[in-house]
Amino acid sequence: MAGFASADSFRPDTSRLRLLPIRFERLGADRFLVGNMVGDMAEMTTTELERLCALDLTPGDGLYERAFEKLFVASADQRAPQQLLALRLRSRLSFLRAATPLHLFVVTLRCEHSCPYCQVSRQSKDRVRYDMDSATASRALDIALSAPAPMIKIEFQGGEPLLNFELIRWIVVTAQERAVPLGKQLQFVITTNLALLDDEVLEFCAEHDVLLSTSLDGPRDLHNRNRPRRGGNSYELAVAGIGRIRERLGPDRVGALMTTTEASLDRVEEIVDEYLAQGLDGIFLRPLSPYGHAIKTKQFHKYDAREWLEFWKRGLRYILEINKSGRRFPEFYSAFILRRMLSDEPIGYVDLRSPAGIGLGALVYNYDGTVFASDEARMLAEMGDRSFELGNVHEHGYRDLVLSDTLVSAVADSLTQTAPQCSACVFEPNCGADPVYHHATQGDLLGIKPLSEFCERQKGVITHLFELLEHSPEDAAVLREWAS
Ligand code: SF4
Repeated sequence: MAGFASADSFRPDTSRLRLLPIRFERLGADRFLVGNMVGDMAEMTTTELERLCALDLTPGDGLYERAFEKLFVASADQRAPQQLLALRLRSRLSFLRAATPLHLFVVTLRCEHSCPYCQVSRQSKDRVRYDMDSATASRALDIALSAPAPMIKIEFQGGEPLLNFELIRWIVVTAQERAVPLGKQLQFVITTNLALLDDEVLEFCAEHDVLLSTSLDGPRDLHNRNRPRRGGNSYELAVAGIGRIRERLGPDRVGALMTTTEASLDRVEEIVDEYLAQGLDGIFLRPLSPYGHAIKTKQFHKYDAREWLEFWKRGLRYILEINKSGRRFPEFYSAFILRRMLSDEPIGYVDLRSPAGIGLGALVYNYDGTVFASDEARMLAEMGDRSFELGNVHEHGYRDLVLSDTLVSAVADSLTQTAPQCSACVFEPNCGADPVYHHATQGDLLGIKPLSEFCERQKGVITHLFELLEHSPEDAAVLREWAS
């Protein structure tokens, strides 16, 4: 009678295990965060981490199973785990296949607000020489439509772009005509403070499917203090505008962004309540950026990364409770990071990518035809630093701009996959390269990461989200839903 092989012969041969690429970071006295190269993470004690590194694992001990599940180890004769890692990495980097989907047209630098934290160095309302003309817009449009991405998003920026609404109208109509033979899909967004919104603008947006994005910093007193204009009624105009857009175009046709100033830090619940009251579908708790008037007026230096993290954590706690009570209301920065942590889909947010999103994710056409690698790059240029100027619409085409020495070296020199600190960092697969920020704050494309507030914020945000996912099932259910 043929016998069965003994149970031992089915046991995996643990002497043939090998370690796949892992990184780790200490979270506490006996706690480590361990991650693989595609952002899967697990918490381990010191003993567990030592056993993992020594491949001292036995089937059934729990650590063996976790190590396989998280792709920290594989059998020496197995190729599948490596192939799976490669496939997932390829998916995470697939944004490179549809390069430059976002094109920002700075149709004017004029503005009728005078916000002290303004990052674009706006000009006063009557200085029309800061308007883009149609010849420049036409060339910029040709460049935008020659980018490889099948869906091209055109965003109108300023200053206050509605001060040059005639040009916006011309660009939208012309882009729609030129896109048809090229087979491109288009999306349009006007980024506006809504002070100049009128029926003509609303009708045009309805007819041409144009979205609007505005600024809302919180309750009336906070918003009006942050965003002064003659009449002191920025809040009233923004809120009235949001209402009119929701009524005329629909509730999902307007979004808002807030900027965290020193005055916002202890008012996050009121800020969130304001967004809920205006019927907005989420909030982005955004720190100030180190550009333009935010530097000149010293607003940028009024709080640090640690204070912003406290603000964000408190806001997230409040927002999670709102979601648990039944209203879906994501915090958008968390949602972006969660998508990085919980899926292999590429995300649209250009600051959370490596290779960096400059040029490859977005191009900016300034009012005078100069092309910059990102919105922050043109903000720097207005401060006199033209390090990320790629060319001019009248002299250069898409390929000249994205293959310019300036862009290629900025992207190559800032890769987190190979950078000191980042390449050994457990957060790297869920983080991004931000060469313009590091150039602006440290005069270096890579930046010294232990001195970088960007790095401190990323570590703080990812660690906090990881801990909620691991240790708080009710919060985790909400966070997983945001990521989907
Ligand atoms: S910036 Fe900081 S958190 Fe991000 S990958 Fe680099 S070292 Fe890690």
